[in-house]
Amino acid sequence: MSDRTTGATPAAGLPINPPPRLLMGPGPINADPRVLRAMSAQLVGQYDPSMTAYMNETQQLYRGVFRTENEHTLLVDGTSRAGIEAALVSLIEPGDRVLVPIFGRFGHLLREIAERAGAEVHVREIAWGQVFTPAAIEQAIRETRPKLLAVVHGDTSTTVMQPLDELGAICARHGVLFYTDVTASLGGNAFEADAWGLDAVTAGLQKCLAGPSGSAPSTFSPRAAEVITARRSVEAGLRESGDSGLGVGRSVIRSNYFDLAMLFDYWGARRLNHHTEATTALYGARECARLLIDEGLPEAIERHRLHGAAMLAGVQGLGLDVFGDLAHKMNNVVAVVIPDSVNGDAVRGSLLADFGIEIGTSFGPLHGKIWRIGTMGFNARTDTVMTTLAALEQVLRRQGAAVTGGGGVGAAWDVYADAVGGAA
Ligand SMILES: *Cc1c(COP(=O)(O)O)cnc(C)c1O
Repeated sequence: MSDRTTGATPAAGLPINPPPRLLMGPGPINADPRVLRAMSAQLVGQYDPSMTAYMNETQQLYRGVFRTENEHTLLVDGTSRAGIEAALVSLIEPGDRVLVPIFGRFGHLLREIAERAGAEVHVREIAWGQVFTPAAIEQAIRETRPKLLAVVHGDTSTTVMQPLDELGAICARHGVLFYTDVTASLGGNAFEADAWGLDAVTAGLQKCLAGPSGSAPSTFSPRAAEVITARRSVEAGLRESGDSGLGVGRSVIRSNYFDLAMLFDYWGARRLNHHTEATTALYGARECARLLIDEGLPEAIERHRLHGAAMLAGVQGLGLDVFGDLAHKMNNVVAVVIPDSVNGDAVRGSLLADFGIEIGTSFGPLHGKIWRIGTMGFNARTDTVMTTLAALEQVLRRQGAAVTGGGGVGAAWDVYADAVGGAA
């Protein structure tokens, strides 16, 4: 690339100027412009009254998004897996038993992080595209007697969502802590941290929250906070006795950056210095929550349901098959079976090159077998659904697949017409 006026590339390169894209994959998606505007605001000092007020407001906004009264509701700086890692490394002591029911790629991630935290991890696996029954999870809890149940809510790798509403009571019955990763589902599907009995929940911005990756909103119940801060006491005690404490006590949280006891002290009334809060990411995370609360959570979930239903009807209307247990499909993403007659990567390539539209590929056992198409956050809209279906039809036809002419847009239109009819 070269400078237009001189023909030369400046030594320092050209300014960031990404190509216009419509991101219809499983995340990231196009950020809401209001989030981007919030993120262009000037910095303030770490303890400026405006900054600490923004931190407090962000905590309160996310209590609304997570549907919790938890005092310990905060941002972990980093992408979604920073939140996962902070939760697991702070809750798990080496040797603790952890149960991970795995139904997709992100279950494997939970297992890996729990293992790195020193847990004795027990897994139960089910075919991708399916979810566990509460009875199966309770049976596994009886068999393994874990300290912690760690389960993904919506797994974008398979597009299905594990029902969590009955698991909190099961965990309470067996004295098990209950953690979930809601990165893919939060804001686009019903979620109730308190009513469902969650002890620890972590998320990210780049799915239904309409922001960029880089901040992990998280919340911890009083019970989880007790487990975590008890470990702090041990460490603080060791420190006070002149020992660094690191690597001495069994209970020391084996990460500084992800030590939630220290993060609680930073976000809490004591405001003890830890890292420098990622100010720009906080502006973005705060705006994501503000937009959701302003729209209304039920309204945002209904918007994701409607546009997800239109996209599902549209791909089926083109004559394509979808993958996974539709009764447990997340609102915001659909897995489309790649027809035998086309090359999946060539179709994605043409969508990107000729229409500027990105859809997702897939991992593991589904690699090369399905595409994943998202309708989430800022991109859960009628125009994005229609444009994607119209483009997909043309690309598929050009690549030799038999598709129903007009069947995609037509079926989506019917879903929208029914929704308007239903509301009238
Ligand atoms: C997309 C997704 C993530 C993303 O993690 P990052 O660290 O932000 O890349 C995590 N968990 C689940 C369930 C997801 O769907």
